[in-house]
Amino acid sequence: MSTPSSPVVTEAEVEALIADLVRLDSVTPWLVEGGAGEAAVAAFLARWVADLPVEVELDEIEPGRVNFLATLKGTGGGPSLCLNAHADTVGYAGWPERALVPRRDGDRLYGLGASDDKGCCAVALLALRHLATRGPRLSGDLTVACVADEEGVSLGTERLVATRRFDLAIVLEADALDRVVVEHQGFGWIDVVVNGRAAHGSAPEAGVDAIVGLAEVVTRLGAWGRAQRAVSPTPRNGATVFHTGTVRGGTDYATYPSQAVLGIEIGTQPGERLADRVAEIEAVIDEVARVVPGLTGEVRVRLEREPFRAAGHEALLSSLQAAARRRLGVELREVGLNAWTDAALMQSAGVATLLLGPLGGNFHSPDEWVSLPEAVAAVDLLVETIAGVLG
Ligand SMILES: [Zn+2]
Repeated sequence: MSTPSSPVVTEAEVEALIADLVRLDSVTPWLVEGGAGEAAVAAFLARWVADLPVEVELDEIEPGRVNFLATLKGTGGGPSLCLNAHADTVGYAGWPERALVPRRDGDRLYGLGASDDKGCCAVALLALRHLATRGPRLSGDLTVACVADEEGVSLGTERLVATRRFDLAIVLEADALDRVVVEHQGFGWIDVVVNGRAAHGSAPEAGVDAIVGLAEVVTRLGAWGRAQRAVSPTPRNGATVFHTGTVRGGTDYATYPSQAVLGIEIGTQPGERLADRVAEIEAVIDEVARVVPGLTGEVRVRLEREPFRAAGHEALLSSLQAAARRRLGVELREVGLNAWTDAALMQSAGVATLLLGPLGGNFHSPDEWVSLPEAVAAVDLLVETIAGVLG
């Protein structure tokens, strides 16, 4: 092993690989129609690992939507570990001329995906390369998965957990190397559908105004949401997410609207079920239906993602903490998040999972950046952690 004073990669190596990845457009088409998808990144990475003693798979989930997988086979007997980072990005409408042009300024590298999450893909691959070429030999298999569509609906990690088995995982998302994420919120995307009765605008006795009914529902949900946030059962995951997102309803000026639909996002904390929150929202709709004759309503769950709480991760965490003490001179704080990541899908599939990553900023906005010293440190941390738990 290298000594703590000598990083296993140079800043120039980290910068070069992240920059190469930033130049490749991989906007998720789930967010931006016509987005490039991950195929170019996967093809580039296949060339990048071509000389390494690893097994490579490009798993095309849908046309142009590709998971890149590289596995360093262990000698046998040890646990298998997956490093999971995502190859897709959000769109770049706000900075089209600079998003795909990496730029170094001081310690930072700027560009779309520099931290979220191509910087993390690069960190995982450089750790893999070091272990594949310099050792130590690992007992278990190490897989780097640069997955598709995390910024969309996680097609990539859903495919990964459906087709591969791992004992352990580290999901890499830019954060800061003084901490490790051991839990975070889940969420639901929910439509609140309020039905009235269409009628000519001059026939109020025949119409039931769905928009007026929805307004009443929104007011009550606002109060309910504030009460929810006031009693977060898991303070380190922040206030429970709850906000409106979309609204639509009615057909024209001259007609009583027969339907109005509110789209909301609602968080769930570890141990909570979205179904319980849906039942509470249904009770709010019933309350309104009692005071507005003729009104009916329902809740439709469009997407549900479970919360994340690490389990079975003790050996991985103790190896990570030992590595952090030796390589970085810190004890990582165990923290939660109020956001959602693919870590929830890994853990739900029975893979003991932790989440961490190098410092970055301006996520999902112009001039996204990653700290190059933290990216170098992240490679050190991963190499030593993996050597500890699979060595
Ligand atoms: Zn991300």
